[in-house]
Amino acid sequence: MKMPPTRGKKIIITKPPKKGPVPPRRAFLGQILLTVVVFFFFVSLYSSISDPAKNLEEISISNLAQEISLGTVSSIVVVGDRLEVTFTDGVEKISKKEAGTALSTTFKNYDVPTETLSKINIEVKNDRGFMYWFASLAPILLPIAFIVFFLWFLSRQVKGAGMQAFTFGQSKARLTSPNDKGQKVTFKDVAGCKEAKEELSEIVDFLKNPKKFLDIGARIPKGILLMGAPGTGKTLLARAVAGEAGVSFFSISGSEFVEMFVGVGASRVRDLFDLAKKAAPAIIFVDEIDAVGRVRGTGVGGGNDEREQTLNQILVELDGFEPNEKVIVMAATNRPDVLDPALLRPGRFDRRVTLDLPDRKDREEILLIHARKKPFGEDVNLALIAERTPGFSGADLYSLMNEAAILAARENRTKVSQFDLIRSIEKVMLGPERKSHILSKKEKELTAFHEAGHAVVASVLPYADPVHKISIISRGRVAGYVLKLPLEDRKLQSKKEFLDDIAVALGGYVVEKTIFKDLTTGPSNDLQVSTALARDMVTKYGMSDKIGSLALETSGGKPLFGTGVGGKEYSEKVGAMIDDEVSKIMSEAMKKTEKIIRDHRDVLDAIAARLMEVETIEQKEFEEILIAHGITPKKKQDIEHQQ
Ligand code: ADP
Ligand code: ZN
Ligand code: MG
Repeated sequence: MKMPPTRGKKIIITKPPKKGPVPPRRAFLGQILLTVVVFFFFVSLYSSISDPAKNLEEISISNLAQEISLGTVSSIVVVGDRLEVTFTDGVEKISKKEAGTALSTTFKNYDVPTETLSKINIEVKNDRGFMYWFASLAPILLPIAFIVFFLWFLSRQVKGAGMQAFTFGQSKARLTSPNDKGQKVTFKDVAGCKEAKEELSEIVDFLKNPKKFLDIGARIPKGILLMGAPGTGKTLLARAVAGEAGVSFFSISGSEFVEMFVGVGASRVRDLFDLAKKAAPAIIFVDEIDAVGRVRGTGVGGGNDEREQTLNQILVELDGFEPNEKVIVMAATNRPDVLDPALLRPGRFDRRVTLDLPDRKDREEILLIHARKKPFGEDVNLALIAERTPGFSGADLYSLMNEAAILAARENRTKVSQFDLIRSIEKVMLGPERKSHILSKKEKELTAFHEAGHAVVASVLPYADPVHKISIISRGRVAGYVLKLPLEDRKLQSKKEFLDDIAVALGGYVVEKTIFKDLTTGPSNDLQVSTALARDMVTKYGMSDKIGSLALETSGGKPLFGTGVGGKEYSEKVGAMIDDEVSKIMSEAMKKTEKIIRDHRDVLDAIAARLMEVETIEQKEFEEILIAHGITPKKKQDIEHQQ
């Protein structure tokens, strides 16, 4: 039972996997197996070398002496200690003599008559060739070879397993080379962001043609900081600059500098800058720089030396650039408020480029870019989709397009239709529908009245956004929702709009309290949202008469590591005054909402009844109900914008 959450989720873009994703367990088993196989191979090799005449029968030297006395032996070949005996009937056998004793002496000791012995053809082969040495050394060498192999194998495996024992100081930057046509991104792929592109085209110009700038003695900025909400295209734009200029692009994420080992971050920074200087002209892109670039030295939670060293090294490298080094550092962050001021000093990241959420026209252009490779039905009207998606970032629009294509494919259609796109808007905003989440009759009634409450208040109050859709089909984590869309994009919000928004958020709560005379946990989020809004009005926007025009908190919220724990910049007395003002705003809004619900009970009942019946009411039907009860739906010209 929430209002649609505020936009701006972080979209995670998967990076290409770093090589070799074999599951470690399977890889390990495989290697054990391989080792065993290699072991057996060596064992059999060894035995076949050391004993080549294995299949010949062996007789003892005493038996041989007997055979000789009997005269059945025709010849003996002596190879070292080995005797290859051939009998008169052609049978071959082998035997061994005592080492170091002459064969004749041996036989004499066995009382073999000398004349019998002289009849036998005895041949001594001087077997000192390769095979001899190999056979005699193999028992020593093979185990050693095996152990060496095994060690080599292990070390290779350890490295492969990601320990990278010898390379952890190297930067892990991904390099996109200018010749890589598949990955090339240019300004054409980035819609909107007109000012940002203009600002950056100067950088492109310099990278393409540095001489022109250097000759005239111009100092080119070394560091450019891209700031903007998640998904506004910071990473994309950085890549587009490299693509436009046709230079190498080294990209690394801030968090990749920091690892278990102290000092790794700093050495990675050094390595990265060295690499880039060698490849100049080049762009180094540090994504999510707030991971290393937070304000230093506040020591909350023990501080992080590693992070600080990394940041220091980045600063050192930035300062160490010669003006004619054609390397430009770009960085992106969505939390510029937490960055260390040292990063923003002149000569470092002194160029700052802000990327805003796209407005209606830009949204249409972004949709067009992502529509390039998709087949669309005739009914598709991207302008309408752009109109319906205020607050969407480029990344949201990208995933909207993707969801629509998936929907069409799932329903076995070859073209994406307008209906697919419209359904995807809600999916991207609120998560998928949960049709299986069945509400009990009582819950359904309560949810219907709750959402109808929001809708009625939104329709009656002049500065609230008009209702586009009401639904009690649960989606993501919400049980039901009212989709309100502003009539036009707004950059500024007025006090009147804030007050009406708070009243609308309270609509559900008031209905539960006054009609059901009981409260559920449902509106807790509504209360949080509206209270936070009221608080912001007082502390950030100077919209309370009593406190006046003091901005007591910065727009980024309290920097966690900035001003120490709590980060309060006002006294207890002012704090109490703020609380008073917030509760005054809330109770006034509550009164306003209660009156609306009382006065428009008939519309509320009608909407709730219809909701229970059909579960979802679209704008057109909703307006018909309003008109039937004497409320004029809002049209564009009705809203007079005051800033
Ligand atoms: P950020 O780095 O600001 O969080 P990204 O640059 O990663 O956002 O954007 C994510 C995706 O959203 C991009 O890959 C692109 O597909 C899409 N996108 C964002 N902004 C734009 C834009 N202005 N034009 C076209 N596509 C965009
Ligand atoms: Zn609600
Ligand atoms: Mg990014």
